[in-house]
Amino acid sequence: MSDPENARCPVCTMDDLLEREAVVECATCGHEWARALVVHDANGHPLADGDAVTLVKDLKVKGSSSTLKAGTKIKKIRLVDPARNADHDIDAKTPEGMGVLIRSKWVRKA
Ligand SMILES: [Zn+2]
Repeated sequence: MSDPENARCPVCTMDDLLEREAVVECATCGHEWARALVVHDANGHPLADGDAVTLVKDLKVKGSSSTLKAGTKIKKIRLVDPARNADHDIDAKTPEGMGVLIRSKWVRKA
């Protein structure tokens, strides 16, 4: 579970770190910071905030009767912590402007 970006505490520079759900805590000084989210698309390419993606599967939109078709392009995704979003790791807006949560395995980077 080690993440090279967060391998050391930014406050005391010690590397004795405790990784929790969404944060890393330094065992030495108690400093806590948000863990970098690592999200990959259906092809294993890393995704970042602001990326555009294309759906690889038809997805039913929860709480509505609409379906997002495979091939739909979604701009400016935001990565979210899957532990807090029922396993969904992408927060996005449909072309119609509706907010949706998507699993990264159903998209590929556009
Ligand atoms: Zn520290």
